[in-house]
Amino acid sequence: MDLIIVESPTKAKTLSKFLGSGYEVEATMGHIKDLPKSTLGVDVKHDFAPEFIDVPKREQTIRELKAKSKKSKVIYIASDPDREGEAIASHVKELLTDHRSPITVHRISFHEITKDAVEEALKNPRDIDANLVDAQTARRVLDRLVGYKLSPLLWKKVRRGLSAGRVQSVAVRLIVEKEREIEKFKAEEYWEIFSEVECKNIGPVVNSHHPRFVVGLVKVNDKTAEVKNKAESDKILADLTKSDYKVADVRKRQITKSPHPPFTTSTMTQAGARIFGWSSKKTMSIAQKLYEEGLITYHRTDSLNLNAVAVGKARDFIKKEYGDKYLPENPRFYKTQSKVAQEAHEAIRPTNVENRETGLEKHDFGRLYDLIWRRFVACQMTHSIYNETVIDVAAGSYLLRASGQIMVFDGWTRLRQGSAGQGKNDGEIILPEVVKDEKLELVKTWADQKFTLAPARYNEASLIKTLEKLGIGRPSTYAPTISTIQIRQYVEKNDSKQFVPTTIGVAVNDFLMANFADTFDYQFTAGMEDRLDEIANGKLKWAKEISDFWKPFDKKLIDVEKNSKRVKIEVEKLGKACPECKKGELVIRTGRFGKFISCSRFPDCKFTDKYLEKIGLACPECKKGEVIVKKTGKGRKFFGCSRYPECKYASWRSPKKEETPTVEPSSK
Ligand SMILES: [Zn+2]
Ligand SMILES: [Zn+2]
Repeated sequence: MDLIIVESPTKAKTLSKFLGSGYEVEATMGHIKDLPKSTLGVDVKHDFAPEFIDVPKREQTIRELKAKSKKSKVIYIASDPDREGEAIASHVKELLTDHRSPITVHRISFHEITKDAVEEALKNPRDIDANLVDAQTARRVLDRLVGYKLSPLLWKKVRRGLSAGRVQSVAVRLIVEKEREIEKFKAEEYWEIFSEVECKNIGPVVNSHHPRFVVGLVKVNDKTAEVKNKAESDKILADLTKSDYKVADVRKRQITKSPHPPFTTSTMTQAGARIFGWSSKKTMSIAQKLYEEGLITYHRTDSLNLNAVAVGKARDFIKKEYGDKYLPENPRFYKTQSKVAQEAHEAIRPTNVENRETGLEKHDFGRLYDLIWRRFVACQMTHSIYNETVIDVAAGSYLLRASGQIMVFDGWTRLRQGSAGQGKNDGEIILPEVVKDEKLELVKTWADQKFTLAPARYNEASLIKTLEKLGIGRPSTYAPTISTIQIRQYVEKNDSKQFVPTTIGVAVNDFLMANFADTFDYQFTAGMEDRLDEIANGKLKWAKEISDFWKPFDKKLIDVEKNSKRVKIEVEKLGKACPECKKGELVIRTGRFGKFISCSRFPDCKFTDKYLEKIGLACPECKKGEVIVKKTGKGRKFFGCSRYPECKYASWRSPKKEETPTVEPSSK
């Protein structure tokens, strides 16, 4: 009997389904070795040797694996096809070979859990790739050094219980800097001016009047129109009311739009956030399940490669299902951005394109599968075609413009999420067939007051996009980074699911930027990710890279410890005197378990009180308490009753105003 070892029970179950009785499949339940929790676990004096110990929770799994391996002729380690999977494989091999030898241990890897892919992998076993393992070790050691060395410093200089992370702190920095941009932003007034015109040359068609269309002001005396205030706007409106209108130019062209490339981790998590409002963590955990069930290819990838056989099957499907018009002459292949050859697997796609549905379309599981399926099949379809018309209208010294676009062929957009198929042309502007120099009649003119908009806060999708653009994120780090900074309460999501830094997030960021600007520099962090890639490629040695990082960092640590000042965390004032000392003022502070009320004279005055974030609604359950915003231990927001624990009301969603009486805003 041969033994196959994977990480998860679901993956083990899927594998067992199509492997013969000659194989037994066992799961490690994740990592079996890791750095110790209580100590640094890195020997900085001896080439940064990591001290990997057996994960205490996995003792039984380890015993079972050892027992099973004794009865097996050959062992295949089939952990996931990336650096983390390679590190797990290396730990498993170490564990199973140190108690008995000789033993044959092979590494096999596949990017999809299907019969063909697994059989192919079994035919081509290989050794463990030491470069990939090194790259993973380097990341682990680097993150450990930064985290474990900075935390005590933060405890001393900012507040107890805080921690920092190499990539997480950079993500917090992005969010803090965005908030400052928004604070500095001053909205500027501007006006948009429109005229509605009628074409007398074309017979009455709609509601017994001639065709009409709306043109917007674009130029004044050949210069781009900039209307700053009402006075300027009124003057232009007066001119436009008196002017003669005629068609200055008509431009028609056909434009095409190509499909989007297939999903990578980054684009898939962005789509999950945009379309379903999911966190990247949620999208990734659903994708993990789809992968382990054998329905999609590996979900941690930055590659756009597509397997030629899979593309061929998609083309057959498109031809059969939608017809020749939707099938381009040649398959579409996309240029990959992946920097590491060994990891350059594939984009995320369904393993079998004929699997149109999972039967679970109403569940998140089925919804994500459907999204991945559509994106993949669409990426092999023909482009969509539009007729675009631009009409320039002259009115005295003013130039106004209308543009319209009509879809003439839907192509790949037939499969776009939310499109019901052909004929869905919402929001299209159809312009009448006017000719150059044709006179037009003015129907009316008007102006809209507008203000420039502040930069938008990051949401889950735009944060991932930015991390990727800056070269800071990797497929394995987006979701954990974003969830960690929320659990640590450095940032939180507002009602529009945008990230806002907390006072602690700001304080820690400012401390780190004042003292460790180099460590949390965007370019430096991106460069470090590149060097990890180079280690994976076998071009750099990991201990040397860590050493180059460590020497200046260690010096800085000692210097900051000695010389830097303690940081004060900004507090939100409540505008009320402290009931205990009568001298201080009540403020909101954030502790390890969320917000609480305390005295501004702390530590001289020790007054504290519960902080209840009320939303102005009565508790729908007991009707006596008020609905308040609370947080779970993992930082997820929920709604509860102010009378807890007497009333146990709890809900993920805020009750609707219709469901429960509102209450007057009261003092907190
Ligand atoms: Zn007080
Ligand atoms: Zn209640």
